[in-house]
Amino acid sequence: MNIDSELQKHYAQLLGVGSPWEVKNVELKPAEKRVEIELGWQWGADAQCPECGGRCSIHDCAPERTWRHLDTMQFRTEIRARVPRADCPEHGVRTMQVPWAAPHRRLTLLFERFAVDVLLASASVNQGCKLLGIGWESAREILRRAVERGLERRQLEGLKRLAMDEKSFGRGQSYIRLLSDLELSRVLDVVE
Ligand SMILES: [Zn+2]
Repeated sequence: MNIDSELQKHYAQLLGVGSPWEVKNVELKPAEKRVEIELGWQWGADAQCPECGGRCSIHDCAPERTWRHLDTMQFRTEIRARVPRADCPEHGVRTMQVPWAAPHRRLTLLFERFAVDVLLASASVNQGCKLLGIGWESAREILRRAVERGLERRQLEGLKRLAMDEKSFGRGQSYIRLLSDLELSRVLDVVE
């Protein structure tokens, strides 16, 4: 068994991507401390319309995009892919949804999930940003989306332990207040 295909299988498992997505290439760049994972759509598989979920033919592939993923042993890890555009008889040509990230986001779902935990555990948002290697705007967006996700499946009846946290942004001139559910480690609300 060659090492390359083992590595590709390993990353496919780590990412939780399966057919018809496949890991086409894993590039290790030790000098830059980076890992680049190239994902591809298997040739011949039907596309899926993001609007109605219907199976349809592939129109073409969108230009390559990259997503920041969880680091691999402190190597910054990025996913690259050209996402197929579905040709739906009803909705026209639409870029498919990918299983590893929310639409229009440049971070993978796993990265966002992990980032929320880090931001919750950090003394300040600034510190969390440093640990994660992201900017304030990203952190703000991650928390905003965490709240959105929380609101989608918010059932306050089950709440047992709540935490109210204040974290400084930047040099301490501004604060955000986080309301989180300790049992399920989810963010319920963020206010400035
Ligand atoms: Zn459709």
